[in-house]
Amino acid sequence: MEKKRLSKVQSFLEREKTMTYHEKMTLLETSRVSSSEVIDHRPFGLNSGLMVHVKANVSFSNDVQDQAPVRTRTMTQGSKFTTSSLDAHASVADTTMDLVEAAAKGDTEMVRKAVSKNPYGSKGNDQAMQKAVQYGQTEALQELLNAGVDPDIKVQGGRTMLHEACVGGHNEVLKLLLIHVTDMDATNSLGQTACHTAAYHGELGCMKVLEEAGADCSLQDSKGCSPCHLAAQHNHPSILNFLLSKGMDIEGADDNGRRPQHVAARHGALECLVLFLQSDCDTTVEDGSGFTAGHHAAAKDHLDCLRFLVKHGSDKEVRENHGRTLAHLAAASGSMTCLHWLLEKGSDVNVQDKLGSTPVHLAAAGGHHLCFNCCLQHGGNLNILNDKKETPIDTARRFGHPVKMNQAVNNEIRCTHCNDNYELSCWEESHQPNVVQRAINSSKTAIFSSPMPNNKKKETKKVTPRKEPTVPGRGKLPNRDLAVRYFGREEGT
Ligand SMILES: [Zn+2]
Repeated sequence: MEKKRLSKVQSFLEREKTMTYHEKMTLLETSRVSSSEVIDHRPFGLNSGLMVHVKANVSFSNDVQDQAPVRTRTMTQGSKFTTSSLDAHASVADTTMDLVEAAAKGDTEMVRKAVSKNPYGSKGNDQAMQKAVQYGQTEALQELLNAGVDPDIKVQGGRTMLHEACVGGHNEVLKLLLIHVTDMDATNSLGQTACHTAAYHGELGCMKVLEEAGADCSLQDSKGCSPCHLAAQHNHPSILNFLLSKGMDIEGADDNGRRPQHVAARHGALECLVLFLQSDCDTTVEDGSGFTAGHHAAAKDHLDCLRFLVKHGSDKEVRENHGRTLAHLAAASGSMTCLHWLLEKGSDVNVQDKLGSTPVHLAAAGGHHLCFNCCLQHGGNLNILNDKKETPIDTARRFGHPVKMNQAVNNEIRCTHCNDNYELSCWEESHQPNVVQRAINSSKTAIFSSPMPNNKKKETKKVTPRKEPTVPGRGKLPNRDLAVRYFGREEGT
């Protein structure tokens, strides 16, 4: 009998190698092997899979001295357990797992039972509350709150339950929590409140609930970012619109002087940029580094944002603190699409920054051979020296990209967009119409462009003044006297 049991345990150990934690737990239940047996037979150091059970036991033992034998710290670190000590706590551990599972599934009945059986495991209760909040189980959460579980607990990253509710967008759970928590502006390890989390995830419902409950939506995190910054970063114009409707300033700067419109441009959030412009926000304002929103869009290759900004008044040649234009930044960061567009729109390719570098120098330094080629296609000068007395090719050599840059100079590597233009012009050249087609085309255009034929000459009739009928001997009659014209003038008048 003992042998049979041992083989069961060993088959479990064999199978668990390729399993996740939950699969192990299911297998443990179905194969009717106790966790203590597994731990006893498993090679030393491989018991981490069952550490949740073990840790749970330890926390209970600290609370209830008379029910549990006192465990030393070494026991939680993988040393051998005696079978009897674990069995004594198997029921408590199972209750914890049941509770957490029931809370996640929203099984209110089971939560009530498990909480009443397990009033000691604060860790288990906290886990259960986290699961109930994460899965939006309002009723299970209510049960846990009724049982006295603390709603102000913090989990990984210093997140409170309010943060967890906002991640999942569970409005009802959030409403319930806001009644019970002591601080609705509690922050996580980044200094962000629940409002930040709601804005980050675009959870408008949660944002409304928080605002109605009186949470402060304008607080800044440890980097000075407000919820507006996070909403702009992830392109949630609805959040910005809501905050705007509540009279909030959506243009506040963070610690680097960066405003939400800068963040939106940097992350390609076009809808938010449109909203900023509609709300009369200044899209040409500079941040702490002298970057405009256009600089950010060019640096991150967001062409749609860049076009929008330039169309609505952003200057292409504006310079940041180091004297760099939009083309400089696009070339330095390898934003080929934006660089090509800027150069096509007439940006200066040989403009020098405060260190004398042109966009060609910066493309060479960064090893962006496509941008480098694009600059050359648009008239980039390879002989301009910067403050270090280097030409772009020298710079490429210093940064270790001479081969690629030489290929770009020889057009062996081409900017994709320049190449498209080149191929289009080649195609058009090779598909020129022959003589007959050209004649047909010209006659067609002649037909459509010539004025309507009008052969009839306008006949100019000579209007001969009509002779008024005159009654002999009476002189000229008044024109409008029709009675006289038709019936004659009566005698004696
Ligand atoms: Zn190009």
